[in-house]
Amino acid sequence: MMPFPPADTVADIERNLADVRGRIKSAAIRAGRDPAEVRLLPVTKTLPVERLRSAAAAGCTEFGENKVQEAKRKHAELADLDVKWSVIGHLQTNKAKDVATFAAEFQALDSVRVAEALDRRLAQTGRTLDVFVQVNTSGEESKFGLSPEDVPAFLSELPAFGSLRVQGLMTLALFSPDTERVRACFRLLRELRDRARDETPGLIGPGGLSMGMSGDFELAVEEGSTCVRVGQAIFGARATPDSHYWPPTVSDGPT
Ligand SMILES: *Cc1c(COP(=O)(O)O)cnc(C)c1O
Repeated sequence: MMPFPPADTVADIERNLADVRGRIKSAAIRAGRDPAEVRLLPVTKTLPVERLRSAAAAGCTEFGENKVQEAKRKHAELADLDVKWSVIGHLQTNKAKDVATFAAEFQALDSVRVAEALDRRLAQTGRTLDVFVQVNTSGEESKFGLSPEDVPAFLSELPAFGSLRVQGLMTLALFSPDTERVRACFRLLRELRDRARDETPGLIGPGGLSMGMSGDFELAVEEGSTCVRVGQAIFGARATPDSHYWPPTVSDGPT
């Protein structure tokens, strides 16, 4: 059984990208939304750099990577490509300096200590970084992110870090075949965003919602996603189990 079509060539990647974009468009239209509001962030974790070159040839202009060391290495190996790098996985304070040197965006901000470490490094180099605040909307122990009730206080701390550009909120939904429970995670993130926008509009930037992955991006778009992070539906099934990425371990990904 192959849930995600393999993609070895530029043409394969183009075909899968077109398919994903078509599904985003249909989901947006079902929800009465403008499909142009939804950014597709291709997630390239575990893929060798040759596949990222193929992805760039297929039109990708940005790559999402879960682990800093892997992202940093690929950034260096692909320095000749004109692409942006987004780090989408949990960050330890001691790796913040790496992110500050090459990433355009960090989507998993969930502690003041990391915000401070990023900001300090960015200020030294005059760079800025787009950030999303990660929220644990599923209540699962294994997921990173702030508790929903901690979001307002956390947002109110961020203006102190002038090099960080808050773009909105990010989440990983429950991994479950029960679409109503998955949808509830996305809805919760949207409600948190709406509340922040009403009560403290200056703190949430454009109020983006990074939510939705290969298995659930259509639901996420229906619930208001402005950024879907999609790997396997574009590049084919990953051999590495997802459990490698979500639990709070400190190991780095396979290279
Ligand atoms: C791997 C990953 C994704 C994409 O998952 P796919 O199943 O490949 O679409 C999205 N978000 C994060 C944080 C990830 O680590």
